[in-house]
Amino acid sequence: MTIDCPACGKKNKLEDGICCRCACNLEKLAAIVRMAASFRDEAAVCLRAADGVGALARARASWELRHSVEAARLAFLASLMNHDFAAASRWYEMGVGADSVCQRDRPPAAKS
Ligand SMILES: [Zn+2]
Repeated sequence: MTIDCPACGKKNKLEDGICCRCACNLEKLAAIVRMAASFRDEAAVCLRAADGVGALARARASWELRHSVEAARLAFLASLMNHDFAAASRWYEMGVGADSVCQRDRPPAAKS
């Protein structure tokens, strides 16, 4: 897993802790990314257990930390499981072009 340095934009390994280009401290950002991944994994477990409410809460928590495609997809599926089709539609739209770390002010990156 990689994170983009908020100072210079260089991609760094999550475990590096310091940007290899500008020496910016990335530990707090890495902790946020790890927590978002943890919430995302928990959401997937809830979905498999047919716990739509729990899955949505954890997917939303993950999304608040990191706007990832995975978090939006899990929230989309959880919303479907909860029969909330309007929310599912919103999550679908939010997932398009997501997957940024602390880049809410930047335009969404093109997906390959
Ligand atoms: Zn940097």
